[in-house]
Amino acid sequence: MNIIIFGPPGAGKGTQAKNLVKKLNSFQVSTGDMLRAEIKNDSDIGKKIINNMNEGKFVDDEIVNKLLENIIFDKKKNNKLIFDGYPRTISQAQNLDILLNKSNQKIDFIFFLNVKKDAIIKRIEKRKILEKRSDDNSETILKRYDTYMEITKPVLDYYLKNQNFHEIDGSMEIDDISLKIEEILNV
Ligand code: AMP
Repeated sequence: MNIIIFGPPGAGKGTQAKNLVKKLNSFQVSTGDMLRAEIKNDSDIGKKIINNMNEGKFVDDEIVNKLLENIIFDKKKNNKLIFDGYPRTISQAQNLDILLNKSNQKIDFIFFLNVKKDAIIKRIEKRKILEKRSDDNSETILKRYDTYMEITKPVLDYYLKNQNFHEIDGSMEIDDISLKIEEILNV
């Protein structure tokens, strides 16, 4: 089963993805984590993306798509992918379709964690203290939220027609969201 967890920054995508990874014995595909690892390793990619990341701007589609390719064509991960933070643009959604098609896979479920702006800002302020992410400062949070509204939210239209699209109230408690998702997946 391949699943997309969709939603604004701070909606809890990573938390739910990790829960599903355990439950379904799958693999989390967090482009944010992959990009942070590139920065930590001070790789060529890391050097290219550090400014954009710290300012809350998107990393170029080309870089993100390339990172993704290795995972999609990794046979042991086939049909065991939990996407968290990808796709974020229409062109990434189209790219994902092409790569999945090429590898005889598809998206089986899409969960949209819907959370309002105020709640998100509060959550990210908390995460800032816990995870010490350099892009979790007040100014960048707002920037990331605006970018989500402008560029990522329209990606929803791309998936709305998919019969396995489910909108979930992302302001619920973490465990309740997990239960809701598991109920829909019947796992
Ligand atoms: P995240 O951990 O998903 O909140 O992502 C943190 C940051 O990584 C984002 O604000 C972007 O700068 C970058 N990023 C993560 N995923 C993507 C993506 N799919 N496309 C472009 N930039 C991304």
